[in-house]
Amino acid sequence: MANLRFNVVERAFKKRPLPVEVPEMRPAEYYGKLVFNREKMYKYLSLEVYEKLVDVIDNGTRLDRSIADAVAQGMKQWALDNGATHYTHWFQPLTEGTAEKHDAFVVHDGKGGMMEDFSGKLLVQQEPDASSFPNGGIRNTFEARGYSAWDPTSPVFIIDDTLCIPTIFISYTGEALDYKAPLLKSLRAINKAATEVCQYFDPNVKQVHANLGWEQEYFLVDEDLFFARPDLVLTGRTLMGHDFAKNQQMDDHYFGTIPERVQAYMKDLEIEALQLGIPVKTRHNEVAPGQFELAPIFEECNLAVDHNMLLMSLMKKIAHKHSFRVLLHEKPFNGINGSGKHNNWSLTTDTGVLLHRNGKTSEDNLRFVVFIVETLMAVYKHNGLLKASVMSATNDHRLGANEAPPAIISSFLGTQLTELLDHIELADKEELFTFEGKQGMKLDIPEIPELLIDNTDRNRTSPFAFTGNRFEFRAVGSEANCASAMIVLNTAVAEALIHFKKRVDTLIAKGENKTSAIIDIIREDIKTCKPIRFDGNGYSEEWKQEAYKRGLDCEPSCPICFDRYLDKESVKMFELTNVMTKNELLARNEVKWETYTKRIQIEARVIGDIAMNHIIPVATEYQTLLAKNVKSMMDIFGGEEGKKLTESNISIIKDIANRIKTIEIDVEELVNTRKIANKIESQRKKAIAYHDTIAPKMEEIRYQIDKLELIVSNELWTLPKYRELLFIR
Ligand code: ADP
Ligand code: MG
Repeated sequence: MANLRFNVVERAFKKRPLPVEVPEMRPAEYYGKLVFNREKMYKYLSLEVYEKLVDVIDNGTRLDRSIADAVAQGMKQWALDNGATHYTHWFQPLTEGTAEKHDAFVVHDGKGGMMEDFSGKLLVQQEPDASSFPNGGIRNTFEARGYSAWDPTSPVFIIDDTLCIPTIFISYTGEALDYKAPLLKSLRAINKAATEVCQYFDPNVKQVHANLGWEQEYFLVDEDLFFARPDLVLTGRTLMGHDFAKNQQMDDHYFGTIPERVQAYMKDLEIEALQLGIPVKTRHNEVAPGQFELAPIFEECNLAVDHNMLLMSLMKKIAHKHSFRVLLHEKPFNGINGSGKHNNWSLTTDTGVLLHRNGKTSEDNLRFVVFIVETLMAVYKHNGLLKASVMSATNDHRLGANEAPPAIISSFLGTQLTELLDHIELADKEELFTFEGKQGMKLDIPEIPELLIDNTDRNRTSPFAFTGNRFEFRAVGSEANCASAMIVLNTAVAEALIHFKKRVDTLIAKGENKTSAIIDIIREDIKTCKPIRFDGNGYSEEWKQEAYKRGLDCEPSCPICFDRYLDKESVKMFELTNVMTKNELLARNEVKWETYTKRIQIEARVIGDIAMNHIIPVATEYQTLLAKNVKSMMDIFGGEEGKKLTESNISIIKDIANRIKTIEIDVEELVNTRKIANKIESQRKKAIAYHDTIAPKMEEIRYQIDKLELIVSNELWTLPKYRELLFIR
């Protein structure tokens, strides 16, 4: 048995980097090669069709069905020119991954042969037989009708031999069964609300876009080692494994030299990503050994979400090629950092940046302050919901642990912005204005210092930090679809802006000057949302107490956090902005609870199996060895001396026996608690039972197994250890 593990480890450590085929062109030249971008649209479509399509993309006008056929023909031609034979609607069901079903371009030509065909109808809408995707009861399975519909704002692309068409996925009755449909609605909501507020300052603003720049953290593990760990294979994380002597204490991995094999992997990944139009830019080692990060240049939010989904599947595919497995799980290893996905979020207008103070005029500064404050209002009002949007069975291990954002949402602004808001709040109103003859009242916000965009004024413990020209939402899980968090953030900010405008308009209607009205409301809101601002250490025990006093959501249990989606305030927000109906929210929560339960359920089964058929047999084998040793020692020495000399081995034998006994009892209890939980009808209550009774039992079993790993002879231990899994040569 033992040699098996040693063989695997040896094989893994001896692997050399895979030579990477680097294209002859420069990255800027092959960027977007496999994407039907504007350059290709222009080439493959008539000018009239091109212009209509661009209008749909840029201005959100309705797609004229009459151009769909022409667009489909152009796309097909481009796809065939690039070696594609199939096409697929590519969508994002509520399972966290992406889904696709490939069809060939061929049809009968009526003369006994085949020809390539692709119509507007097939491009625009399809009815995949996708009855087994989670839908929370929205669709009766027998009806089984879900539609996928083309999203023209995200360009189609080619993977291998398949033209992939980004689509939304909705039910027969129009309810969202995916992430993209509500995301697009949330983007429409924030566009509308933010544009109206922008027009107070500049009537020329016609559109506001949300941007997203995600930073993707991940672990790499050698594929042979991965396959020797059934827990990794089946659950994506290690359910057992003792810390090793040297992990991340020395901080020597962070930003360290990238191991050659990993470097080759990254290079390969970047080439493919760039060809698919994902603007990857940054790569580095992360804090934990075996952990890395990749970040692109930020993009429009919907496109960035698609690109992240696409990148995650590319990561898996290319890892395989390099004999790695990529772990996107938020917490694959205990005792070292987990992985997240920082979501850098900002707003831009068609005329400039919104969350960046450019300070040319006081009006600019005021507009900047309005958007900062209303974002804070949104985060304050819906802090529990925002937390729920990033919660999952897997991210649960990370939120609240001592490394990552705490399970309480707060916002860090930095000294300068804090001082500015304090000034606006506390100054006498007259101080904020000067009178200038005929022009009347003029705003006089003191010069705002150039905000720091560099890294000097940063608080790494804050889950929602302002970083110069954007907010960085750091609590998002590495495995998650970014859309979940972005839907809530966009919608909440849209709602805050709608309320802001309503109140300002009321004051204006009463005869107040516009700028003065804005100042009044902003001063009110700065006061209201104060509890969300926190610049201290988000991991500290005092903060938990303080946050509780401030009325922030401190609930740590994931399945209970999901309740926030159904709060009156949340439903009101989603309905006001037309992003989701109560019915959709209810259905999606069913899916969330069910998914939560399933993840824990699988883990519980796996840990039970491994404990019984890996750990206990190995521990018993070692115990037998020791017992033999004791017996022969007694034969040689006998009596008092023999007893003395065998004392320590006897205590190890007893220790092992006790731990085995405990594990056996715990595994049996685990099975029984599961049986009880499985009988619960309500998905919510079942998830809570899994959280409260099954997850903690698994921890107890793990504790015993990890102790055994330290006791049992290294040679007998069958599962690759942390020190072997985490170090890549
Ligand atoms: P750090 O790791 O220090 O937070 P990085 O530079 O590695 O910063 O990553 C920052 C991320 O933020 C990148 O994805 C980048 O594209 C994105 N980003 C930068 N500016 C903006 C912005 N205005 N809006 C949204 N995302 C942004
Ligand atoms: Mg960051």
